[in-house]
Amino acid sequence: MNRIPNTLGVVSRADELLIIEDENSARRAVFHALENDVPLTILGGASNVVLLERVGGQVLLCRSRGIEVLERNASVIRVRVAAGEIWHSLVLWCLEQGIPGLENLALIPGSVGAAPIQNIGAYGVEVCEFVEAVEGVNLNDGELLELSAAECGFAYRDSVFKRDATVLVTALRLRFDPSRTPVTGYGDLAERVSEPTTGAIARAVIAIRQSRLWEMSEASSRTL
Ligand SMILES: Cc1cc2nc3c(=O)[nH]c(=O)nc-3n(C[C@H](O)[C@H](O)[C@H](O)COP(=O)(O)OP(=O)(O)OC[C@H]3O[C@@H](n4cnc5c(N)ncnc54)[C@H](O)[C@@H]3O)c2cc1C
Repeated sequence: MNRIPNTLGVVSRADELLIIEDENSARRAVFHALENDVPLTILGGASNVVLLERVGGQVLLCRSRGIEVLERNASVIRVRVAAGEIWHSLVLWCLEQGIPGLENLALIPGSVGAAPIQNIGAYGVEVCEFVEAVEGVNLNDGELLELSAAECGFAYRDSVFKRDATVLVTALRLRFDPSRTPVTGYGDLAERVSEPTTGAIARAVIAIRQSRLWEMSEASSRTL
């Protein structure tokens, strides 16, 4: 009962486990926690946390879905993505739609809502380059809020959300440049990408990441 799914497969149980499916359920959960003075733990894919055997209070699992194109023309593409979407699914969706930018961030584990928390990045690209605004619920009063990219205080693997965890992220609004120049010069990516298309970059990033995971699992099986 109340077992918390997490990528390490650690057996961890929550006093109370709630699925957040949209903005309304997010607000209800926050109001409930405030009224009853219950501590909140917010999780997406639980890929970047090590959970205790028991987590007190309420655990909120962000599972909201939806990707919406807000605007698309020759100079800009604007997209709104629900926090519970899987990050890599968003990357694949962008590739299918011919939207450039996220290919270097392929196969980063986790959810869209967690991406701005540590300003995820890989192979010379960071999510903050695309963030127009972060939508969320204020954990201090349950009200909806919206932070512009500047207000998010993004830095290397850092943001205002990491320094002061008072926002439940419900959606990201992202902004893409259709004529963006691909980033291929970082690390071993350059050697692997012969033509700098979004698809070729994504395939190379996925191949590098998969080979690293394989090397890690090989090494750990040898030392156990
Ligand atoms: C194998 C591996 C490779 C990785 N590679 C990279 C990499 O290349 N680059 C990189 O930047 N990171 C990398 N990471 C880290 C990880 O992918 C990111 O931290 C990712 O954003 C975690 O997403 P998640 O949904 O699993 O977050 P969780 O583990 O569920 O949560 C992480 C933190 O974010 C908070 N959080 C989650 N969702 C929300 C929300 N909706 N609102 C408010 N707070 C929230 C949680 O409270 C917690 O503090 C890697 C991790 C692993 C395990």
